[in-house]
Amino acid sequence: MKENYQREMDGIIEKHRQAGEVPSLFLHSCCGPCSSYVLEYLARYFRITLFYYNPNMDTAEEYARRTGAVKLLLASADYPHPVSLQVAPYDHGPFLRAAAGLENEPEGGARCTRCFELRLGEAARLAALGGFDYYAATLTVSPHKDALRINRIGREMGERYGVAWLPSDFKKKEGFKRSTVLSKQYGLYRQDYCGCEFSKNHLPVPAPSENE
Ligand code: SF4
Repeated sequence: MKENYQREMDGIIEKHRQAGEVPSLFLHSCCGPCSSYVLEYLARYFRITLFYYNPNMDTAEEYARRTGAVKLLLASADYPHPVSLQVAPYDHGPFLRAAAGLENEPEGGARCTRCFELRLGEAARLAALGGFDYYAATLTVSPHKDALRINRIGREMGERYGVAWLPSDFKKKEGFKRSTVLSKQYGLYRQDYCGCEFSKNHLPVPAPSENE
């Protein structure tokens, strides 16, 4: 049977809600627009540290622009539970090494698997080090991102480093649509390419979950 990550996540949330618990969550942020919807959804139930780590960005300027959107979001929005921000310094090297030999892959191909492993691996490592109850990622908001692959990698990295992965498919419940509304409301920068230099040259292939 096909997994429903949104339902799985809601089940975990409900279990903690009924126990009167507000667990801690280390949340990898890919950008401000995706974070806007995910924070609106999750900050009702978790104490969140938003982690901006995206070595896949092609330039320091783009990294600063997207980090700026995340900062603007946190300065503008009100959340029921505290949300703090952790920004990693820009370093494109780890991404270029991970993507070596896969530069001509289309968006959605094998290079993206390496890219997710890199970003989620670092998020899992730091979440475990910080003793967080869960870690998760905003990546599944995007209609171009494959929820199945992201959840598989998220689980693997969680097991490798010793922290629970919070499954998600934020495209469900119209998450992407809501992120566009919130981005407009807060005046967030909305990028027109995924992030790496190679994504500027190739059109994305549709993610399997798009048609769910
Ligand atoms: S297209 Fe996007 S997900 Fe794929 S490697 Fe480039 S930045 Fe990463």
